[in-house]
Amino acid sequence: MHQFQLSDQTIMDISLRFRREMDKGLCRDTNPTAVVKMLPTYVHSTPDGTEQGEFLALDLGGSNFRVLLVRVMGNGEQKVEMENQIYDIPEHIMRGSGSKLFDHVADCLANFLEKKGMKNKKLPLGFTFSFPCQQTKLDESFLLSWTKGFKSSGVEGKDVVSLLRKSIEKRGDFEIDIVAVINDTVGTMMTCGFDDRFCEIGLIVGTGTNACYMEHMRNIELLDGDEGRMCINTEWGAFGDDGALEDIRTEIDRELDAGSLNSGNQLFEKMVSGMYQGELVRLILVKMAREHLMFKGKTTPGLLTTGHFLTSYIYDIDTEKLEEGLASTEKVLRGLDLDPTAEDCKATRRVCHIISKRAAHLCAATLVALLRQIRDNKAAEKLRTTIGVDGSVYKNHNAFSRRLNKMVRRLVPDCDVRFLLSQHGSSKGAAMVTAVAFRFAAQQAE
Ligand code: BGC
Ligand code: MG
Repeated sequence: MHQFQLSDQTIMDISLRFRREMDKGLCRDTNPTAVVKMLPTYVHSTPDGTEQGEFLALDLGGSNFRVLLVRVMGNGEQKVEMENQIYDIPEHIMRGSGSKLFDHVADCLANFLEKKGMKNKKLPLGFTFSFPCQQTKLDESFLLSWTKGFKSSGVEGKDVVSLLRKSIEKRGDFEIDIVAVINDTVGTMMTCGFDDRFCEIGLIVGTGTNACYMEHMRNIELLDGDEGRMCINTEWGAFGDDGALEDIRTEIDRELDAGSLNSGNQLFEKMVSGMYQGELVRLILVKMAREHLMFKGKTTPGLLTTGHFLTSYIYDIDTEKLEEGLASTEKVLRGLDLDPTAEDCKATRRVCHIISKRAAHLCAATLVALLRQIRDNKAAEKLRTTIGVDGSVYKNHNAFSRRLNKMVRRLVPDCDVRFLLSQHGSSKGAAMVTAVAFRFAAQQAE
């Protein structure tokens, strides 16, 4: 397991490497070949707390697909209320044709409006679409490539807002005003920004991983204008896709990538996010069993099946409480039809610990690069900032968030960083962006 354990020195080095990748993405000359895309989002400001109204939101691309009705009450109350409904996206739709996928999204939306008795209200809608997209304005967004578990045909290179509009029009039984399409990181930053005006970073560690932050327009060479700021979606999951992480990638990382839906892509994400942590652990256990280091050399169909070691198992195994952790470990291994010894359980727990710790520390490395960029932009000696966070791994695995926070503070002791967890931040954020757009439109009309 030695090669999975990265020294503080290495983490710092990776942070510096990532900072260079960010530069590459921001500069006009190097952007075309940059793997970390640093995508403009057309979101210029975080909420000021006065936003209000009733909005619909869609959230596609996390562990759940949701439709929401969000009420933003910024007048004095500063409250956000929501009603939401989770819908299933069957695997054949995630990996089938694009038109089927968007038809399904429109069906779910129709079902939601029906239930709420709102089918004849034309509400503004914000769409959280958590994939790398080239945006040209707030409501136009071209999918660059699918990530995570999605691979539906005929969508890459297309504007996802038009695809959704088409599917809604085809039904013809309701109308919707699609105002904004955003990444989940942006949604998270915006939701947290409603409560904390220092929030200028959005972080997701869930099925996938990514972050956005507020950048100065003068540093965004691809766009005209030097005034003010814009939120940049870094798409840091692609860090390493040009070979920048080869020195720390292991044989197991390569094996996981080879068996994935998007081999060669999202190499950083594959070391960090929830879709992959469990699978990394499984591949290590299989290898150790085959080398007769565990389970008396035995494997089972359960252990040998891709995806059968869930990342959520790690949350229960890698806890501070040793006894509880070992009891969970035994239960998980028995669930895979193994017959573990006490030593096997200890070893498995150790593997989970190391994989999760590596993920947290890598995430700290990239986050620290963002913090330094923001600090340098402001020429601030001591930066005070808030990071809005969402995502299943960060929310459900205490040891993960603790290690991440700790490493960030260790690497940038001169920054005063607050991590603000947001419940459903990525979904509510689509409504927040729509609400901010409405506030601006109203101000302009005045
Ligand atoms: C996507 C990002 C997204 C992240 C977290 C990644 O796979 O490329 O756009 O923000 O997952 O959901
Ligand atoms: Mg999400």
